[in-house]
Amino acid sequence: PPIPVGARFAVAIDGPAGAGKSVLGAALSAAIGATYIDSGIAYRAVTWDALESGLDLDDDATLAPRASTLPLTIEPPHHADGRQFTVTVAGRDVTWALRSPEVDNAVSRPSALPGVRAAVTDLLRRLASTGRVVMVGRDIGTVVLPHATLKVWVTATSTTRAERRVAELHARGVDADPGAIHAGIVARDTLDSSRATAPSRAAPDAIVIETDAMTIDEEVAAATLALAARLVHANRGENS
Ligand code: C5P
Repeated sequence: PPIPVGARFAVAIDGPAGAGKSVLGAALSAAIGATYIDSGIAYRAVTWDALESGLDLDDDATLAPRASTLPLTIEPPHHADGRQFTVTVAGRDVTWALRSPEVDNAVSRPSALPGVRAAVTDLLRRLASTGRVVMVGRDIGTVVLPHATLKVWVTATSTTRAERRVAELHARGVDADPGAIHAGIVARDTLDSSRATAPSRAAPDAIVIETDAMTIDEEVAAATLALAARLVHANRGENS
């Protein structure tokens, strides 16, 4: 069923690294006419900035104020090289730098800091205020948008997730050791799901989509159907 043109909604998509959240988020937002926001970009940008400036990745007192004033822009792609966005920090195009193994391996540390999380959460809520959004991350349904119209937990086995990441890197001409990629993904999940502040987990009212054996069209159809059902409930006042 189509989503009514005038309807306001927020879809929160969470799940572990490499589960396919951003592919689903982009396809779903295009299908239903919504703004797509990838919250991982903000945590990656904070981490890139800290690495670039040689700062302590565990120092909240230093990183939180930088996070809240980071000159970050996220725009439609400037280059047709497979990017979903062009991301800049202080005018520098950091789109691919944010996807480097260095940032991959470091990003869970600043992401565990309460002050950094508060600053990024503020930013994300401001971005979501347009009223028709799909936001992907780790704590969107639990912390950032707890009143989201629809919450989705996207997951896949760690083997599938590592295979996808290797294929993604190969497509960009980056050579990757599958064993190291798998280990890195498992390590990042452990850190993200066991941290004290906003651990990555499914909201109790999330629907679960297991993507191992699903096509992207099937995932979009499942999410659209669930969103349409939630909007009907919301309009009947059953969801308030
Ligand atoms: O989704 P992506 O892999 O780009 O996220 C990078 C990292 O940012 C995650 O491993 C996690 O540490 C952090 N993150 C988070 N909360 C979010 C989104 C990302 O902690 N909502």
